[in-house]
Amino acid sequence: MTTAILTDPRYAAHTDPFHVERAERLQAIEQALRVSGLSKDVLALAPRFANRAELAAVHNQTYLDTIQRFCEHGGGQIDLDTYATDASWEAATLAAGAAVRAVESTLSGECNNAFALVRPPGHHATHNRAMGFCLINNIAVAAHHALNQFGLERVAIVDYDVHHGNGTQDIFYRDGNVLFCSTHAAPFYPGTGDSREIGSGDGIGATLNVPLPFGVGDQGYAQVFTELIIPAVRRWKPQMILVSAGYDGHGNDPLGPMALSVTGYAQLTRMLYDLAGELCDGRLLLVLEGGYDLKALGACVVAALQVLLGRDPGPDPIGRYDSPGTTVRSSIASLQQRHPLLAEQ
Ligand SMILES: [Zn+2]
Repeated sequence: MTTAILTDPRYAAHTDPFHVERAERLQAIEQALRVSGLSKDVLALAPRFANRAELAAVHNQTYLDTIQRFCEHGGGQIDLDTYATDASWEAATLAAGAAVRAVESTLSGECNNAFALVRPPGHHATHNRAMGFCLINNIAVAAHHALNQFGLERVAIVDYDVHHGNGTQDIFYRDGNVLFCSTHAAPFYPGTGDSREIGSGDGIGATLNVPLPFGVGDQGYAQVFTELIIPAVRRWKPQMILVSAGYDGHGNDPLGPMALSVTGYAQLTRMLYDLAGELCDGRLLLVLEGGYDLKALGACVVAALQVLLGRDPGPDPIGRYDSPGTTVRSSIASLQQRHPLLAEQ
């Protein structure tokens, strides 16, 4: 089993020391990797830049021109919580390019699975708008690359970041080739991701949103994956599974209201790893999204890489959380009755 990681020191130039989404996030991951000793067991691949055609498959040209010029003129605040610097265009296109390179590596057989450890994150960026710390939608560029350049017909994106991946949903909402599944806290930023948002046109049924009450922990998430996400992806029969790997659902996260542990997150990754083995020769690609408690972030990435290597992630270095009696039963029951990918089984 060959697991690739893709990261680059140039991501650090996109940073704001007063912002939670800053260079220290990837530095914490690198530190955790060093301490874990895992670096020698994974294949380190160099990212490349996503080219204009790859970006334009997802974002409109005017948007790309505007963001590039904004960065070239020194950057600044794009909205209340999204910033850019003079180095952000380079970082953002290198982040998307890392995800593209991971697709190429996985589909060419260079590796079995991969983790793109990138910044800025991507899943809130819509086809024409930067928001939620995101400039370019990295995972959407990667999924389009798998479809356009490798001729895949069906891919699945699973988003376990604590926030709804509104940008990814926006980009693929009418697309019958990409299944987008998201678990997220609700009501919470960015306010989208209602369970009734299921896609439109050719994409009807290819969006599965599982909004969850605050405080859901390992058991609740595992239940949602077992009863909703896994059956839906299985029914979709993807040729590759991509994961918007955000770790802000961890109980220590300063932004997220959930109670996942490192072990709980690793279990979710394990389910997706097993499913990829069952459905698509193990082709599984994780792309980093959120995660703002540096210790939890590093630990979650190390545990995910252990899973990708086919190993047991071992004891939880931080510990488990008691979920405050939050139940996911009603969320599950209503989706099982109404969602096209689940109701007709
Ligand atoms: Zn997030």
